[in-house]
Amino acid sequence: MNRVAPPTTQPQQKDDAVQHRSTLKNPFRAPSTRTRRRLSAAGSLAGLTVLAAIVTLAALSLTACERTEAAEASSAKKVIVLGFDGMDYGLTKKLMAEGRMPNFQKLADMGGFSPLGTAIPPQSPVAWSDFITGMDAGGHGIFDFVHRDPKTMEPYLSTSRSVSEPPIMTFGRWQIPGSGKVELLRHGEAFWQELGNHGVETSIYRMPANFPPSGTATRELSGMGVPDINGDPGRFSFYTSELFAFSGKELSGGEVYEVDAFDNEVHAALHGPNNPFLQEPQELTTDFTAYIDPVEDAAKIVVGDEERLLKVGEWSDWVPFELEMIPTQKVPAMVRFYLRQVRPEFELYASPINIDPENQALPVSYPADFAEDLAKEGGRFYTQGMPEDTKSLSDGVLDRDEFLAQTKITNDEIKRQYKIALSKFDKGLLFYYFGDTDQVSHMMWRSMDPDHPAYDPQVDAKYADVIPSLYQEMDGVVGYTLEHMDPDTVLVVMSDHGFMSWRRAVNLNSWLRDHGYLVVKDPTLRSGGDMFSNVDWSRTKAYGLGINGLYINLKGREKNGIVDPADKQALMDQIEADLLGLVDPSNGAQAVSRVFQSQRDYHDRGYLSIGPDMLVGYALHYRGSNESALGELTPDVFSDNTEAWSGDHCIDPAVVPGILLTSQPLPKKATKLENLAAAVLSEFGVERFPVEHPTAEHPAP
Ligand SMILES: [Zn+2]
Repeated sequence: MNRVAPPTTQPQQKDDAVQHRSTLKNPFRAPSTRTRRRLSAAGSLAGLTVLAAIVTLAALSLTACERTEAAEASSAKKVIVLGFDGMDYGLTKKLMAEGRMPNFQKLADMGGFSPLGTAIPPQSPVAWSDFITGMDAGGHGIFDFVHRDPKTMEPYLSTSRSVSEPPIMTFGRWQIPGSGKVELLRHGEAFWQELGNHGVETSIYRMPANFPPSGTATRELSGMGVPDINGDPGRFSFYTSELFAFSGKELSGGEVYEVDAFDNEVHAALHGPNNPFLQEPQELTTDFTAYIDPVEDAAKIVVGDEERLLKVGEWSDWVPFELEMIPTQKVPAMVRFYLRQVRPEFELYASPINIDPENQALPVSYPADFAEDLAKEGGRFYTQGMPEDTKSLSDGVLDRDEFLAQTKITNDEIKRQYKIALSKFDKGLLFYYFGDTDQVSHMMWRSMDPDHPAYDPQVDAKYADVIPSLYQEMDGVVGYTLEHMDPDTVLVVMSDHGFMSWRRAVNLNSWLRDHGYLVVKDPTLRSGGDMFSNVDWSRTKAYGLGINGLYINLKGREKNGIVDPADKQALMDQIEADLLGLVDPSNGAQAVSRVFQSQRDYHDRGYLSIGPDMLVGYALHYRGSNESALGELTPDVFSDNTEAWSGDHCIDPAVVPGILLTSQPLPKKATKLENLAAAVLSEFGVERFPVEHPTAEHPAP
């Protein structure tokens, strides 16, 4: 199905935005076909903007330079914060009790182990922003992975935005692109900035919702939110000689290219964004050739001057190459190949094309040479914010073992880089982020849950220990840290939210329709109509957008609003009561355990007007459906979740707390993400964070 492009796109994603963007079927993209389609409006805009940004790097508004002076006066105090995305309190506790996480246990004995309250709603970009700013979404302005512009009703991704200006000059088929920039939409001061104000040095690695790099840490590497070279959270390419292998199948996360394997040679191309120097859209491409060994199951891949010999089942290291815009302007990039098969059919996977940390098309770190130095010391690494390729598994391009092999590559890169980070750390605060605990949990959770609709006893039993084993591996990271840190260093281990088995999907918009809150133009159409195309706004009082968001179709705010502001509160109270009574007919379970009203339940003010009026806290095993997230209706409210994306956390925050362990009790008690930074800062004698909680509303953007 076609998706409508948002007015402004941004390069991200995981996580959750991205990441949760990736849970959606093809959120802002046209469906893929056997041959390469022209990029969708969203894709081309994002790509063009990223390239425009590349052309005018100076336009990237980093406020960084002022920064370092304050940090020069450093503190001898050392605090390490390790963030494990999505590490679940209940599972961690169980594995600790079983003796499988001895280093976590050691840490718990030293300073304590407790659940850590998560964000409303518990989506990663929201949750990490709570931690970063010490405020809830009302203060930092990120409420869901997608927001909407009420004036146009068009959705946009919530964490960052790319803006490109029109071409400066055109001549013939050529143009000089205008400047472009990518803006971070998170509001509020980051905790590391406040530390810097007090002379504390800060090293912030892979912090989510921090792209472009804020420029306010002593050094920082952006994480979740860094796009691939196409301005996308990450789209793979799959080259196959098998005709119609994916025909009729909608791919959410990549492109399939049909190739000929004539005479044991395959000629194909790596595809970048459109060339910003051309008036007519035309993709940037770089050709490559695969020479298939006539005897062995192997092939040699040649890209420019680079050659890689791969056996079937092998992954290449990073292959640097360039996309040529004009002879004097090239975009440096890099890719990894996986040779899946050479006969009877040729099958080659290419990773999303990443920004090369050694030669950054867009800065992924502050200062820019920080990422370059990391790559020179520890090898090139995925700069893409969410490197685990969950979509290749969802789309059936890679199988589970291949997906796990790919995540092992990302995990090894990240652990290798962490060891370097730790070895260089000599003062101040070190934050390091691990994301595979979240991404692998999304894809593999069902293997631990025989009651999951997609559980297959023949297959899943083999994978039941994947997630516990990953937790054990992270226990090893904590053990390594304890061994290599000074005894007076404070170690904090935390996660942004927990996890659950996501068994049943709830289409909030279908529920609103069935209860008369949302009215359709054509009642005979029970399904389809994505992007609210079948919604009669002149009779609709409320609509769902995003994974947890619910909006009132308010007169004077929404483009075709009908609800009088005087009636809004009573309407919200009624919807809340109705939602709390929502029962799954298949088993009689309550599907919603809590409903939030933003004016009532957020305590920070400032950006409430950006976000939803209400947020739905689904009960254990329930989550908003992918269809509902972008306004598509289904005949029934409930459906089984049969997707590979089988674990989730975007539900009632009380059900999915994160974890907190410390090597010594912190001077202030941290009970939730919002007050964790204040507790960490108090270790440095910084007693006030955030410096102020906004009380007045900022005007809507
Ligand atoms: Zn997640």
